[in-house]
Amino acid sequence: MIEESYDVVVVGAGPAGSLTAKTAAERGLRVLLLERNQEIGVPVKCAEGVNKEIEQFITPDQKWICAEVKGAYIYAPDGTRVVMSGEKMEEVGYVLERRIFDKVLAHEAARAGAEVRVKTEAYGLIQEDSYARGVVVRSMAEGEMKRVYAKVVVGADGVESRVGRWAGLNTRLRPSDMDVCAEYLMCDIEISKDHSEFFLGNEIAPNGYAWIFPKGEDSANVGLGIGGDRSGEGHHAIDYLHTFVQRKFPHGKIIAEICGVVPVCGPIRESVTDGLVLVGDAAWHVNPLTGGGIIYAMRAGTIAGDVIARAVQENDVSKTRLLEYDKRWRKEFGKRLNTGLKAKEFFFTLSDADLNNLAHSLQGIEIQELSTWGLLMELVRRNPRMLAGLAKALL
Ligand SMILES: Cc1cc2nc3c(=O)[nH]c(=O)nc-3n(C[C@H](O)[C@H](O)[C@H](O)COP(=O)(O)OP(=O)(O)OC[C@H]3O[C@@H](n4cnc5c(N)ncnc54)[C@H](O)[C@@H]3O)c2cc1C
Repeated sequence: MIEESYDVVVVGAGPAGSLTAKTAAERGLRVLLLERNQEIGVPVKCAEGVNKEIEQFITPDQKWICAEVKGAYIYAPDGTRVVMSGEKMEEVGYVLERRIFDKVLAHEAARAGAEVRVKTEAYGLIQEDSYARGVVVRSMAEGEMKRVYAKVVVGADGVESRVGRWAGLNTRLRPSDMDVCAEYLMCDIEISKDHSEFFLGNEIAPNGYAWIFPKGEDSANVGLGIGGDRSGEGHHAIDYLHTFVQRKFPHGKIIAEICGVVPVCGPIRESVTDGLVLVGDAAWHVNPLTGGGIIYAMRAGTIAGDVIARAVQENDVSKTRLLEYDKRWRKEFGKRLNTGLKAKEFFFTLSDADLNNLAHSLQGIEIQELSTWGLLMELVRRNPRMLAGLAKALL
């Protein structure tokens, strides 16, 4: 079998993998970035919404931005609308065109010096003693298997990650740990072109929510996620979406349909082992309340690339050395993931009537210049009895 050798091999060219590869290459490492699909960023399995924190990683470019979003409309089960807007809101940001955005990130990794290989799937881990030493890959173009040796293996292979499992890390998700999602790209529909819309309610999306993210004048990502443990025969995510769309956009046109899974269980227990690091969805770097993971994937990738570069230069890629990555991402955003998990778990205990009452309690006030955290606190202040449990969990 052909053998190759790099400092780092990154499995998966989503935002997490590309940012890891870019950062490690910028610091002088020889990096191989692998993607099993023939085209990076395709198929899109995402609603494509991000907040403005993305500007910390990349300069906005109209090439990969479909819409700029100034706020959000949140609808209670009875239709009561809560308007959120203002620069501090997490809902203010962009709707991306990920088929382009993901490619741009991979370009940046390549320009920094990483080698990018598409149609190449990692099949197994090469291990010696307790250390990950590389991956076995198969190129779909050439049909041949190769052993790719590396000082550090990065699992950036998304929610269905196998890399972590191969190394013995516990990445198993129970149905209740994930949201299962279905989404249509629709056109010929009447939408707000500068606000995202969220719809709550047990009949709409049990243990989840439905969304409309604008992608232009008359087109949008229209989707929903439900708790994985709420999915079953006759009530899969796609069944709920069908009902939602029939009611909301009976004459809209469906251009594409996707389904996918998001890990919504809060931070993983271990994200590193000897010679191996997990980033992005593979390490459950997703806010359990919103299901958003793009920015966390980019954050984690940047930290991972930096720590890996220094570990390789120091010739120490042990778990103990790589734990710096684990500590840094937990410090940067671990608390947000934990808070998101607690808030999600609390909101799932509420009935539709409770959700209606919460929305009514916000009527008449302008929710501007309030962070998502600020909104939760305002809700607690206005509904101290109902939200006593939430206040206890958050404070
Ligand atoms: C329906 C849906 C809607 C979402 N909406 C949003 C949203 O609006 N905003 C937001 O922030 N987040 C959203 N998310 C979550 C977001 O898509 C992820 O958090 C984000 O893509 C994580 O990036 P990643 O790089 O970790 O993984 P991914 O983007 O999943 O990339 C992993 C890559 O690894 C490749 N790969 C896997 N296995 C192998 C292998 N063995 N060998 C080689 N390559 C491999 C895959 O092909 C893939 O390209 C949504 C998710 C879903 C399912």
